[in-house]
Order: sequence, then structure tokens, then C-alpha cells
Amino acid sequence: MGVETLEPYDDNNIFARILRGEIPARPVYEDDHAFAFHDINPQAPTHVLVIPKGRYVSWADFAAKAADGEIAGFVRAVGAVARELGIEEAGYRLLANAGPNSHQEVPHLHVHIFGGKKLGPMLVTP
Ligand code: AMP
Repeated sequence: MGVETLEPYDDNNIFARILRGEIPARPVYEDDHAFAFHDINPQAPTHVLVIPKGRYVSWADFAAKAADGEIAGFVRAVGAVARELGIEEAGYRLLANAGPNSHQEVPHLHVHIFGGKKLGPMLVTP
């Protein structure tokens, strides 16, 4: 399933339902602005998703509409999660898909954190 249009926000997307506690998740971190949990289909030994608690479809949507405190809180949360996962020294990758070309599947902004092995080239070439 792809994200055909980035807006409006769909309150029934799977991450909105996780935030409401309607679907279980394996939590890693939570604060006022962000929630982090293990990806259900991990692509690396460490694969965690960090999401803002607000209703934002993409990075552009978040950057345009979120309050400064939400943006600062989310960015700090991503850093805190990487630290808590213990992958800073060995290194890790952040990735945020947005829109159909990126194959974004869930229309709630999320940053993937990958680590725990050498991650190889940035993009898989077809
Ligand atoms: P993206 O393609 O960037 O939208 O990534 C969506 C990610 O969400 C994928 O890596 C999925 O494996 C992950 N995902 C989907 N449903 C769940 C879920 N219920 N709990 C945790 N991760 C999920």
C-alpha cells in the first residue's frame, strides 16, 4: 500500500492506533512529544521507529505545522533513542520516507533507526 496523497491526516492509520493504545507495540522510549517502538518487520538487528505524538503525515507536514517545542522535542527524542539503544559508537542510519516515490506505507511521520550491523550502501539500486 502506498501513500497516494500526503494530506489530510488519517486518524485510523496504524501508528495513530498504536498511539491510542488500540494496537500493541514494543515500546523503546516515550516522552511528551515522541514515542519509539520496535518495527514489526525489522530490516536490521536494531530497527526502531520514532514518531511524533501529533497528527503529521510527513516531515514536510511536521516542519510546516508543528510548534517549535514539538519539533525540538521530536529531534531530541530521536537522539535520545539512538543513545539508549547503544548504537551511537558503532553507527546507525536514520531514514524518513515521504510519499509514493519513497514507498511510505504508514501516513504518520516516522523516523526509522537502523543499526546493529554494517548497513551497506545508502540505497539499493534496481
Ligand atoms: P514506511 O514504509 O517508511 O512507511 O515504514 C512503515 C514501517 O512500519 C515498516 O517498516 C513496517 O514494518 C512498520 N510497521 C507496520 N505496522 C507496524 C506495527 N503494527 N508495529 C510496528 N511496526 C509496524
